[in-house]
Amino acid sequence: MLHGIKDLRVENVETPEIQQGEVLVKVKAATTCGTDLKIYQRGYTDKIIQLPTVFGHEWAGNVEQTSPELEWPTKGMRVRAGNSAPCMHCTMCQKGKYNLCENMIWLWGAYAEYIKIPQRMVLVNTQEIPEHVSYAEAAITEPLACVLHGNEQVNPKLGDKIAIIGAGPIGLLHLLVAKKNGAEKAVMIDLINERLDFARKIGADETINAGNEDVVERIHQLTGGYGADVVIEAIGSPATWEQALRLVRKGGTVLEFGGCPQGTEIKVNTEVLHYGETTIMGAFHATPLHFRKALNLISSRTIDVRPLITKTMKLEEINEAFQTLSTSKTEIKIAITP
Ligand SMILES: [Zn+2]
Ligand SMILES: [Zn+2]
Repeated sequence: MLHGIKDLRVENVETPEIQQGEVLVKVKAATTCGTDLKIYQRGYTDKIIQLPTVFGHEWAGNVEQTSPELEWPTKGMRVRAGNSAPCMHCTMCQKGKYNLCENMIWLWGAYAEYIKIPQRMVLVNTQEIPEHVSYAEAAITEPLACVLHGNEQVNPKLGDKIAIIGAGPIGLLHLLVAKKNGAEKAVMIDLINERLDFARKIGADETINAGNEDVVERIHQLTGGYGADVVIEAIGSPATWEQALRLVRKGGTVLEFGGCPQGTEIKVNTEVLHYGETTIMGAFHATPLHFRKALNLISSRTIDVRPLITKTMKLEEINEAFQTLSTSKTEIKIAITP
């Protein structure tokens, strides 16, 4: 249970009871996520999470019990679901912007023995996991879905030079996707050398340590003086949102992907926007279609997420897991198992 900032407690809670159309799942693996760490370290918008609450949102497991009228999924089936389900009837859903649904339901509670999938989520955002895919791999469907949505916003072209700010789990997923999309050059920017080394191992062509190199100058050197075709911010800080705008070429696109603290603003140079014809895109979350696509890409290993799972820890060790994530330079995602 998360009670407040950095106040995570292992407690006995009731096993959720299922109602009509719902499914109870025994969690086999949950993966830690930058969003979880952010919520743990600084709290989050109460539109999405209210404390105290069970916590964690990337998970996979076995169907333990289903509501009798459901034909699918069946008991024992390996599934993943959520962490969201749009209503399909609000104005945003009618426009096909399911990720911006006005009545979105969210599911928390991956760091637990059991999790209950709400009726709407059973219908629109639950998938069976193929036999050869591990539970921890399947849990990564959620962040990959978000990355696929962000990627579609930008629509990068074969041969683009792509700069990614932030070599955390999300930045690294963007890197895997960028390389599959045929980026000519993928440049990873971070402050931690260990993370940059990791990025190189999984496909980054160049890395820049923003702590001891001039990022703007290096990006210009690496792109023939023009700047990157696409810049992706994957940290969630106004300073790096602004930095992204200094790294993009004329006519290029900036994807501001990382969510910044509530109430923050950035400055945009009007000349960059006008004479440089910069496109600035935001991206929030994902649609049910992206979740399906993400699991398919994980299953086919088109996007191999296995290297991102750097450690496995037990549910009782959840506090240690978050302390590790707060300080470690090498752990990317920790799989939490029962
Ligand atoms: Zn996540
Ligand atoms: Zn809706």
